[in-house]
Amino acid sequence: MQLEPIQVNNLSVSYQGKPAIQHINLTVQPGAITGIIGPNGAGKSTLLKGIMELVKRDSGQVTMGEQDIKSLRKNIAYVEQRSAIDLTFPITVEEVVLLGTYPKLGLFRRPRKKEWQKVAESLEKVQMTEFSKRQIGELSGGQLQRVFIARALAQDADIIFLDEPFVGIDMTSEKVIIDLLKELKNMGKLIMIVHHDLHKVVEYFDELIILNRELVASGPISQSFTTENMRKAYGSTMGDIVIKGVSD
Ligand code: ADP
Ligand code: MG
Repeated sequence: MQLEPIQVNNLSVSYQGKPAIQHINLTVQPGAITGIIGPNGAGKSTLLKGIMELVKRDSGQVTMGEQDIKSLRKNIAYVEQRSAIDLTFPITVEEVVLLGTYPKLGLFRRPRKKEWQKVAESLEKVQMTEFSKRQIGELSGGQLQRVFIARALAQDADIIFLDEPFVGIDMTSEKVIIDLLKELKNMGKLIMIVHHDLHKVVEYFDELIILNRELVASGPISQSFTTENMRKAYGSTMGDIVIKGVSD
């Protein structure tokens, strides 16, 4: 698999006239895991939604090679920031994962052996096979997140966007997920993860996007993950906090 980088060009998004992100220019590399960090309200979720055009843009283009990102929708697996709603919907684990096959299957074709095979494989990969028939409401936060990752796998997408996938989950689930993502990156996929635990930055990411409404920095960890950039994004109080693994 040989993907082109994603180019984000002058992306701005506002809500009811209030700017959330402004003039974002950056490149996202395939075959790498890119972390998006920044304080609460910095526009991290908005950046992902703006890239996919799930929110209205004030300005900007996003392309992958010659193609507008819009034409690649089916090739993007997106796991949203979690909300309580996820837990109350009456649906089983395997049905959630099956939804991942729909973008390629089409809504009106019935899933067949091939799709169910994909569901089984995907659940296997996140070590959730034994939970296939459970209602999602019965799962822990970590198990639920693994199911959402399985849904993304079932989609067979080359581009994977995850919004705070590690919040409120157990260490085993976190390990299962990050190991899997590293495997996918080694296959050449393009992976972006919104994250807020700065301690894992070096361990998890190859590239970093540091955001605070405007772009503070982006690029390989060794160049972007610096005390100065952390101060710019989080304010001067960050200067007193020692961040493990910061490049300088
Ligand atoms: P982050 O993910 O970094 O915490 P968000 O992208 O969710 O930040 O939000 C950026 C800013 O936009 C925040 O000030 C937030 O309150 C605002 N915002 C986000 N979504 C909406 C929305 N649907 N309507 C109005 N304002 C929003
Ligand atoms: Mg967010």
